[in-house]
Amino acid sequence: MRYIEPHGHMVSRVTDDYIDMVTAGCACVCEPAFWAGYDRSSVNGFYDYFCQLTDYEPKRAAKFGLPHFCWLCINPKESEDVKLAEEVVALIPKFLDRPNVLGIGEIGLNKNSRNEMKVLEMHADLAARQNQMILVHTPHLEDKLKGTRLIVDVIKSDRRIQPGRVIIDHVEEHTIQLVLDAGFWAGMTLYPESKCSPARAIDMLENYGSERLWLNSACDWGVSIPLNVPYTALEMKRRGWSAEDIDKVVYQNPIKFLGQCKKFKLPKG
Ligand SMILES: [Zn+2]
Repeated sequence: MRYIEPHGHMVSRVTDDYIDMVTAGCACVCEPAFWAGYDRSSVNGFYDYFCQLTDYEPKRAAKFGLPHFCWLCINPKESEDVKLAEEVVALIPKFLDRPNVLGIGEIGLNKNSRNEMKVLEMHADLAARQNQMILVHTPHLEDKLKGTRLIVDVIKSDRRIQPGRVIIDHVEEHTIQLVLDAGFWAGMTLYPESKCSPARAIDMLENYGSERLWLNSACDWGVSIPLNVPYTALEMKRRGWSAEDIDKVVYQNPIKFLGQCKKFKLPKG
């Protein structure tokens, strides 16, 4: 099997995970910027993190033959401090030319607060000005439907942004249609405890089709399974999906979306 892990927080994983992913057929991993498990105390913390995502982590992945890409932003959980967010948004352009940077993400909302909205708009503006793709996180804790609607409205209202270059991640049964109808891509995050189980993800694929959809494990330092994409592919096979249809969801779809960024290239063979 071949697959892509389009959303994995590898800085929180051990080398055994890299070995397992490559052994399972992972062709590349993409790592959106996220919360560190604690709030960073200054913009310098983000500078160091962006160096880690664009320098150290791709080298670590390369030791296992795995291409590594990333997305940059200040995540919604740290967006209450608007001044800090302004400093981080001003810092990001210095990193956008690095060879493994795909765009701005994972931006979005956590508690749907006023400050989070301001920072979301700042990121959308940055992406539009710099012609960058966008990866969006939708809230889990508060109202996901309301948060998803707010995000869709903010991004749709910026005419400079093409919806086909935006993926809205962590969709569930009550948000997937809204995201697809707005012209965006949608991501389903496979978690053992929350978010979406493999069975629910496959139900959604069977109900909504597999256009503009991808699967990811989002593996981080919470309870998560780095191999959840291939595990879900196995479950699809059990449910009678053809190898070709599985390949479309776990390999071809991510390439179609990510390939809109010229820097996204997989080694031949
Ligand atoms: Zn994430």
